[in-house]
Amino acid sequence: MIIHDRFGRTVKNLRISVTPACNLNCIYCHREGLYSLYHCIKGDASRRPLTPDEIKAIVKTLVKYGIREVKLTGGEPLLRRDITEIIRKIREIKEIKDISLVTNGHFLSDRALELKESGLDRVNVSLPALDPEKYSFITGYKRSDGVDRVINGIKRAIEVGLDPVKINVVVLRDINSGELDRFINLGEELGAVIQFIELQDPNGFKSDFFKKYYYSLSELENKLSRKAKKIYVREMHNRKRFMLDNGVEVEVVRPMFNRDFCMHCNRIRLTYFGEFKPCLMRDDNHVPINGSFSDPGEIEKAFLKAVKIREPYFS
Ligand code: SAM
Repeated sequence: MIIHDRFGRTVKNLRISVTPACNLNCIYCHREGLYSLYHCIKGDASRRPLTPDEIKAIVKTLVKYGIREVKLTGGEPLLRRDITEIIRKIREIKEIKDISLVTNGHFLSDRALELKESGLDRVNVSLPALDPEKYSFITGYKRSDGVDRVINGIKRAIEVGLDPVKINVVVLRDINSGELDRFINLGEELGAVIQFIELQDPNGFKSDFFKKYYYSLSELENKLSRKAKKIYVREMHNRKRFMLDNGVEVEVVRPMFNRDFCMHCNRIRLTYFGEFKPCLMRDDNHVPINGSFSDPGEIEKAFLKAVKIREPYFS
């Protein structure tokens, strides 16, 4: 049964945060929407990450309602030693058509092969700067080899057959906003898709950080529209993907103040501690799975409630 929310939107995609832990400390990180004061206060030691079996039980229950794609995120998902077990268990669910993962890439060159062998289809790798100093400024990574580490990870992911490999670039005004062509050239050199992402601010758009660094991607979208030899519009978020003459594909993720983006959102989120999260931008409407995380009845109850209260953030 395909489930729709009150706005007629289907829910096909489950984005699971598997850990809050990360080896980097990116200045822009939204922590998958668990960043706000509310969650800092509410955070308590009794929270523990879901186990691979619990994750499998949740995904298996949701396929009945149309979930077909799973994205694993964090924190840094590769910090979980059992990440391949998580992927393997999800892969066992035949209805799931797409398993992807988003990573900062630091451990990717070592782990890409086992990720592929465990059933991962594709990967997104965050690389917010090409200049080592800017990279350190953004990520808090102290050594000068950060960009190289990530690029090696990307190369290895391509080599083992993860497809596509996307490079995620959150665009920040006056930090990397002048380097967009360099990223496109890197995409050509490596054979990776470049995904430019607008800065999102789940803490409210009035924050000084947002005002200082937000860089609208609508102009870039217009420029790419004129230049591209082909444009695809993805079902998810109505995102545009531009195929350029040099063969590079560039996807633009433009969520901010964008009604179209929200109206085409078919994603629901699951926190690492077992709450459904209807929208990245809100943390006042999470729905916990009560009782056992492996109980299909409880999983279903929480999921249906979360879908029921889902609403477009920008409307
Ligand atoms: N540690 C992994 C990583 O760095 O990719 C996974 C977690 S990270 C929160 C997941 C994705 O969210 C990354 O692609 C990152 O670029 C994106 N992201 C984080 N904070 C963001 C923000 N404020 N606005 C837009 N995208 C953001």
